[in-house]
Amino acid sequence: MLDEQGISFVKKLISDYYRSSYRIGPDRMEQREFGAGNFERKIAFRHLSFPNSEELRRYLVRESPPYVSYSSSYYRFPAGRPMEAKGWLGAELVFDLDATDINLPCQKTHGRGWVCRNCLDSVKAETIKLVDEFLIPDFGFSSGEISINFSGNRGYHVHVSDKATYSLNSAERKEITDYIAGIGVEMQEFFPTLGMRGKSLTGPKPSDKGWAGKMARHFLAIMDKGTDAMMELGIDRQTANMIYKKRALIQLGINSGNWDMAYIKNKADFWKRILENLTIKQSDRIDRNVTNDTSHLIRLPNTIHGETGLVAKVVGRVSDLERFDPMKDAIAFRRGEMKISANTNFEIYMNGLRFGPYGGRINVPEYVGIYLYLKGYAKLLEMPIP
Ligand SMILES: [Zn+2]
Repeated sequence: MLDEQGISFVKKLISDYYRSSYRIGPDRMEQREFGAGNFERKIAFRHLSFPNSEELRRYLVRESPPYVSYSSSYYRFPAGRPMEAKGWLGAELVFDLDATDINLPCQKTHGRGWVCRNCLDSVKAETIKLVDEFLIPDFGFSSGEISINFSGNRGYHVHVSDKATYSLNSAERKEITDYIAGIGVEMQEFFPTLGMRGKSLTGPKPSDKGWAGKMARHFLAIMDKGTDAMMELGIDRQTANMIYKKRALIQLGINSGNWDMAYIKNKADFWKRILENLTIKQSDRIDRNVTNDTSHLIRLPNTIHGETGLVAKVVGRVSDLERFDPMKDAIAFRRGEMKISANTNFEIYMNGLRFGPYGGRINVPEYVGIYLYLKGYAKLLEMPIP
């Protein structure tokens, strides 16, 4: 639980942030529904609408909400309620990737509330994979139609602004999320002669489109990495050694769709693990709804995230993502130092510097103090005078 004094200090910071923010508000803003949260609930109010970004900014300065969200849908009457009264006009395609959905070993060490560098690097890699392995090659979107935002905590939102997708209904959106999650991918389709006597084993070629090509390319990459990488996918040592020795020959075969040289026992398990390596992980309950449920509200870009004090910053194109450092580029509050009492088991890296672990009173930059306070790892003792 956050204390009242700290909350009123953070609200003042948030208000000041919006006072000097002039890049708030999405396109077609008069057709969007907005939501605002408090420190108890991320969406405490919804069905809000604003005619222009200046009205929105005034609201944010006045109310200083720790969370601001908006609809990926467009409506004729965005403030209408119930939902049916809004007059749905269409919706952007949005993907929500969060580090907690990737099942990282580091999360077993530090728990779900904490975010480490590995969490952030992994979710960034997952986001790049979504764009480079699925959205561009398989769905044919261009990189100019795909924009990426930091979520403000431990993930990224990928927005596709292709007009052809606006009218997709929930079932059609679900087909897209099922595809990137590998749901319904059947190995038998890729190996039509599997189990047929006297027939050579034909299979996917690396140049094939969609899942077939992905599976073939991934198999070749794993084979090239060596015995250990293959054993991690469940191939026994003897087979892995044999495959590695013959890898040049096997590769030649697979390039033309001939898989006879790559004999693997327990094929079903093996291919299941290859598939799991390649799928995009979005959580079942919450995040897939961002893509499938057009009434869902999503964090408004360039607004403050109330669990970190960071900005849900617009990153831009996928080519900009590699260089983006959320713990540096999304810092909002940097007006000097503050005294906190902190209790952390791990270090954090912000603004390119290392902080902690802490046990007791310490002076830290404002962004570190606010981050640890909002995450529940610190108390604010002395704050800089606003
Ligand atoms: Zn981690």
